[in-house]
Amino acid sequence: MSNPSRVLVLNSGSSSLKFAVIDPYSGTLDLSGIGDALGQDEPTVSWKCDGRTQSSGLPAEAQHSDVIRFLVDEILSKCADLQEHLIAVGHRVVHGGEKFSHSVLIDDAVLNTIRDCIALAPLHNPAAVQGIEAAFNAFPDLPQVAVFDTAFHQSMPRHAYIYALPYELYRDHGLRRYGMHGTSHRFVTERAAELLNLPVNEVNIISAHLGNGASITAIRDGHSVDTSMGLTPLEGLVMGTRSGDVDPGLIMHLASRLDYRVKEINELLNRKSGLLGISELSSDCRALEQAAAEGHDGAQLALDIFCYRLAKYIASYHGVLSQVDALVFTGGIGENSSLVREKVLAHLDGLGYELDMARNLRARFGEEGPISTERSAVTLVIPTNEEWVIARDTASLAPPNRPNGDPSSRE
Ligand code: ADP
Repeated sequence: MSNPSRVLVLNSGSSSLKFAVIDPYSGTLDLSGIGDALGQDEPTVSWKCDGRTQSSGLPAEAQHSDVIRFLVDEILSKCADLQEHLIAVGHRVVHGGEKFSHSVLIDDAVLNTIRDCIALAPLHNPAAVQGIEAAFNAFPDLPQVAVFDTAFHQSMPRHAYIYALPYELYRDHGLRRYGMHGTSHRFVTERAAELLNLPVNEVNIISAHLGNGASITAIRDGHSVDTSMGLTPLEGLVMGTRSGDVDPGLIMHLASRLDYRVKEINELLNRKSGLLGISELSSDCRALEQAAAEGHDGAQLALDIFCYRLAKYIASYHGVLSQVDALVFTGGIGENSSLVREKVLAHLDGLGYELDMARNLRARFGEEGPISTERSAVTLVIPTNEEWVIARDTASLAPPNRPNGDPSSRE
């Protein structure tokens, strides 16, 4: 190992725990894996190290802490002696509310504030808390850092984040737009600045993160000034299974006319809508592209709506930003789907976008670069790397000397 320092990155979901060991300076991934179906009958853990993929069952109802214990006992010690090179643990935390506009070293006060944000992210933050607590137990000597999905969007101005609702809902309950995917939008911003040869605090881009979840952000002078996700990840673009923007009147209609309960509406909008709901086939863009090519009307309609709605957001963000240095596509769909990119740009020729067909077809499987013609508004594909951002922030915030494991030393 040229630089021996490594960061363990943990991403705790409600029933999963993704982990990775990364060189924070080069971004090299030494280990990646996932504990899945946690709390259920047959949890599993699978991981890749030294080019080898392995997997194992875990005891029924195993939790995040069990995955971390397995990671310590069975994986780290046997995988290139990684354990002795760990300098810190970085945690992805979905919601930091208004409390965190940057990544922070976790101490008891920070952990309590993350707990306070559970009200804003009841599905996501409890898992992060569980992962942090388990990691403190497993690695008492290592500093731990929280990297928030919402932090990058804390620069949004009030007129972008306040809903047109009674103001007291914001004042008393924190109900406002927060935005998500901030770590990815930040990575893309920094990388776009490098590719465009601009200082990061002077770059103006529109960043479209299109994965199973999808959001788009307007970035002025390197800072987020508007983004499509809101209080929750449901607002904004059409996603794999989420509706994105709908008329709020629809919710009253579902409840009063069709007898839907809150839980069913939640399920409908978050898990049964989007690409899956429209196509009645799949939430997966690749599967829909194939089905559409074979004449499946629902798949075609789902892709049409996904691209049209995305193009509308891009056009509106041209209005938000006085100057756009580049439109950037990222995330599984943004990085790989030449069809989606082509369909989106076809709506935007009035704004000066012109696709270079050959470049667009080439840009997939991790390829980075421009997909527009020389005379077009600049359009880039940049593969995102949220784990690397988390590892970099973690390494830069971790004190040079490891604390001695006394919880009071966790400053
Ligand atoms: P997540 O948000 O869960 O991290 P990803 O960023 O991996 O998801 O994106 C998953 C989406 O990317 C899926 O809809 C998948 O079909 C799509 N995708 C991946 N590869 C391709 C491809 N070659 N062509 C079209 N879509 C793709």
